[in-house]
Amino acid sequence: MRGARQARRGLGPGHGEQSEYRAPVVLACDGNSARLAVARGRERREDRPMGVGVRTYYSTPRSHDDYMESWMELWVDKDPHDPSAGRMLLPGYGWIFALGDGTSNVGLGILDTSPAFGTVDYKDVLRRWVATLPPEWTFDEEHRVGQVRGAGLPMALGRVPHYADGLLLLGDAGGMISPFNGEGIAHAMEAARLAAEIVAQALARPDVSTRERVLARYPDAVREEMGGYFRLGSVFATLIGNPTIMRLAVRHGLPRRTLMRFVVKIMAGLADSRGGDLDDRVISALARLTPSA
Ligand SMILES: Cc1cc2nc3c(=O)[nH]c(=O)nc-3n(C[C@H](O)[C@H](O)[C@H](O)COP(=O)(O)OP(=O)(O)OC[C@H]3O[C@@H](n4cnc5c(N)ncnc54)[C@H](O)[C@@H]3O)c2cc1C
Repeated sequence: MRGARQARRGLGPGHGEQSEYRAPVVLACDGNSARLAVARGRERREDRPMGVGVRTYYSTPRSHDDYMESWMELWVDKDPHDPSAGRMLLPGYGWIFALGDGTSNVGLGILDTSPAFGTVDYKDVLRRWVATLPPEWTFDEEHRVGQVRGAGLPMALGRVPHYADGLLLLGDAGGMISPFNGEGIAHAMEAARLAAEIVAQALARPDVSTRERVLARYPDAVREEMGGYFRLGSVFATLIGNPTIMRLAVRHGLPRRTLMRFVVKIMAGLADSRGGDLDDRVISALARLTPSA
């Protein structure tokens, strides 16, 4: 995509005709398939973590809970053909989001840093996890009200460059999901804010070379905003991808309140970057000092 000079060819409105659309700048916000970026040769970086999320809905008495619930223990058989080989703890978590309409969104997110990644049936992990939950929550087949659906979670700025040739990548298209928690909505919105500001400034410039210089600031702005935090998250993802570390963290970390307060703050991205308490300041300093993802 070369700004106004070269435009995308696609199927026209009818009869299979080819039409040509032109725009000075194009924002790719087409989600994790990243078709537009892929069509322009921007492949996923293999050195960045990736995740998988699956979810469904159940009618349940827990639909009016005030809090989202996370479960850190997602197990899978080491060898699906040999139960005696034991189980492995997966790096990820299950969630229960009350929707207040009689249903809850129940799902899980798992990182690709575990040796089990790629061989696991994630829908089956979900089914087996909910089967361990209290029966009165009714997370069972009889009360399931939606399909079990899943998608990839492209993380840690895993598709670059975020700007080249008139095309900016935003959100999942640019791999802007946090490896700490699998969340990408806030980062997609943040990218949209940065892109809107930069594109508006660029289009106000009359000459093409100044416009290009302004647009070229977008990748730096994205890295500055998310890069350090995502780099920390990538280290975290690699660590918990080791089943032994994951087991130790769950067994010895979860019961420690002070540690868990810190961990939840960093994982949920809740640290106050303008002051806050000691935890906030440590997390902000770590994110600032860590080289960008
Ligand atoms: C199971 C699961 C649970 C998740 N839970 C959370 C969560 O709790 N919190 C959180 O922050 N993140 C969560 N995420 C991640 C979050 O959904 C994404 O990071 C976020 O939606 C990214 O926003 P986006 O705008 O980049 O992409 P999307 O939300 O995927 O939006 C892209 C849009 O582009 C449209 N599109 C694609 N191609 C075309 C085309 N050719 N023409 C027109 N339209 C097109 C798509 O239909 C879609 O509507 C979850 C992901 C999964 C899979």
